[in-house]
Amino acid sequence: MHTRILQINEDSLNESKDIILNGGAVAFPTETVYGLGANAFDGSAVENIFKIKGRPCDNPLIVHVHNDYDISNLVSYVPEYAKLLAKAYLPGPLTMVYKSKGKVSPAVSCGLDTLAIRVPSHKGAQEFLKHIGLPVAAPSANVSKHVSPVTAEHVFSDLNGKIEIILDGGKCVGGIESTVVDCTSDIPVILRSGLITREMIACVAGDCGEYSLKEGESARSPGMKYKHYSPLCETMLFDFCDRKKAEKKYEECIAAGVNAYILCDGATANSIKAKKILNLGESEAEIASNLYFKLREGEKKAELIIAISPEKQDGVMAGVMNRLTKACKN
Ligand code: AMP
Ligand code: MG
Repeated sequence: MHTRILQINEDSLNESKDIILNGGAVAFPTETVYGLGANAFDGSAVENIFKIKGRPCDNPLIVHVHNDYDISNLVSYVPEYAKLLAKAYLPGPLTMVYKSKGKVSPAVSCGLDTLAIRVPSHKGAQEFLKHIGLPVAAPSANVSKHVSPVTAEHVFSDLNGKIEIILDGGKCVGGIESTVVDCTSDIPVILRSGLITREMIACVAGDCGEYSLKEGESARSPGMKYKHYSPLCETMLFDFCDRKKAEKKYEECIAAGVNAYILCDGATANSIKAKKILNLGESEAEIASNLYFKLREGEKKAELIIAISPEKQDGVMAGVMNRLTKACKN
């Protein structure tokens, strides 16, 4: 199959619609990362997404809908706090999990009785979803366990020959996947951290829990248990307080002829002597936005990425730390 990267216009949207209505998959931009979308009502189209990515068959997909879409078609109960969250943060990088009405293919939620729904704010994503006119099941458009794609070229390098079309919406601004929040309990519970922070959710909903997987328990959000976001080269992660050790490791590597790069935020980059640096930038938004971009740049030019955690670890940085830790896990 020949894979084309297309600008978003009437022709490419019409072609995307044909592909999706015929059971195929199309990659499209969102404000977080690129998604790989299929018709959520079509079981074999959804199963095909798992095959294309090599995604474990128990890791459910998020359904993406247009801003005007009435989600009561798909889910049976929307608690009051969820309505407030939707009003405050949608469209945007927040995925909400509800009790499913079972209208979409069971393959979407891998047999769970819940459904994760997201309304992306990216203009291209909204145009795509409006044109398709159906709920679109979409995971990130990368090979499973690899770093999520934040440019059309990233999608191409992972899925070339496996899909027909990549809609090009430029570099994703958000840079890490959506916050996933479970809305089936009395209070919202974060299943995956992201740009909509726990503080932002608690501020609107009054309270917000955070789920963590316990030893021996079956995962409430199955995706959490998998290795994720990993670059193709070797990686190491040092705590912020161990940044001197990271620098020493870098110097030893360079002396031994190992092509190592340090990945860190801008302030840390300015405080160390290393020459080969993957600089994530200064602000929290920049750091999140650049994380996958720099991990993908790093895997191309480095044998080893030596990452240093940011000093701050709450708010948006909780999402960054979650991805960085998983990316560097052996
Ligand atoms: P990705 O498609 O790679 O962004 O991953 C989607 C994330 O959403 C994974 O962590 C899934 O476990 C989570 N997810 C999707 N559907 C559900 C659901 N029905 N219940 C809980 N988590 C979900
Ligand atoms: Mg993913």
